[in-house]
Amino acid sequence: MQRRSLLKYMAMFTGGGAYSLSFPSLRAAIASESNVEWGYEEENGPALWGELSPDFGVCQAGQQQSPIDLEGALPAKLPELRLSYQEEALRIVNNGHTLQINTSPGNRITLGGQDFELLQFHFHHPSEHAVNGQRYLMETHFVHRNEHGEFVVLGALMQEGTKNEVLQLILESMPAIAGPEHTIAEVKVNMLQLLPEDQSAYQYFGSLTTPPCSELVRWIVFQQPIEISKEQEEQFAKVFPWNARPLQLLNRRFLLESL
Ligand SMILES: [Zn+2]
Repeated sequence: MQRRSLLKYMAMFTGGGAYSLSFPSLRAAIASESNVEWGYEEENGPALWGELSPDFGVCQAGQQQSPIDLEGALPAKLPELRLSYQEEALRIVNNGHTLQINTSPGNRITLGGQDFELLQFHFHHPSEHAVNGQRYLMETHFVHRNEHGEFVVLGALMQEGTKNEVLQLILESMPAIAGPEHTIAEVKVNMLQLLPEDQSAYQYFGSLTTPPCSELVRWIVFQQPIEISKEQEEQFAKVFPWNARPLQLLNRRFLLESL
């Protein structure tokens, strides 16, 4: 998928003649053959995502985009959420956009009686969702999908406090540059420690926060942040100084919060 979109991207910029090989992202894309066709810089950032590929059009035209400011939520009885995650060996990848941990089959959530399989989790710096206009230090996204291709993403906000031991294990294994996945068998990750104890949450329907920005996501963002240390934030920021999309409009959607 990444390679296909890279080829499309290259065709777009080389075919039109308006852009030459001096276009910096394109040069980088050709040089590394990695998925650097979009990013958070001026030349490839969120304001341009919708134009970078015909596949990314909804990033610009969509009316149900994420992230959003979590304010003015309506109290509601939300569907019951059950987490079933196992401790497992760390499979870590710097994909050029974020630090991602790939997870094995068998980790899942049940939401309102429906099963969704955990695919991976990853981090944003600063947080993508804001609460009353305020962003947090970081945010973790646990990405789940069911057999119909519908996504549920759990968002855990991170505020400054005591060091998180699981995040520490992950940061110590963080590749400084983009590359393939590494398995580190001796490092076991208990993902539950990256989630708050209190399951009270905001919920709304939105999108992936990265291209192709598909509007297939039921978002559950926990109200209680977890704590990380300032040093942990700084360590992540050395590799990912800014990988958060700007806030999107709520438009005609309902934002709900736990009663
Ligand atoms: Zn994310």
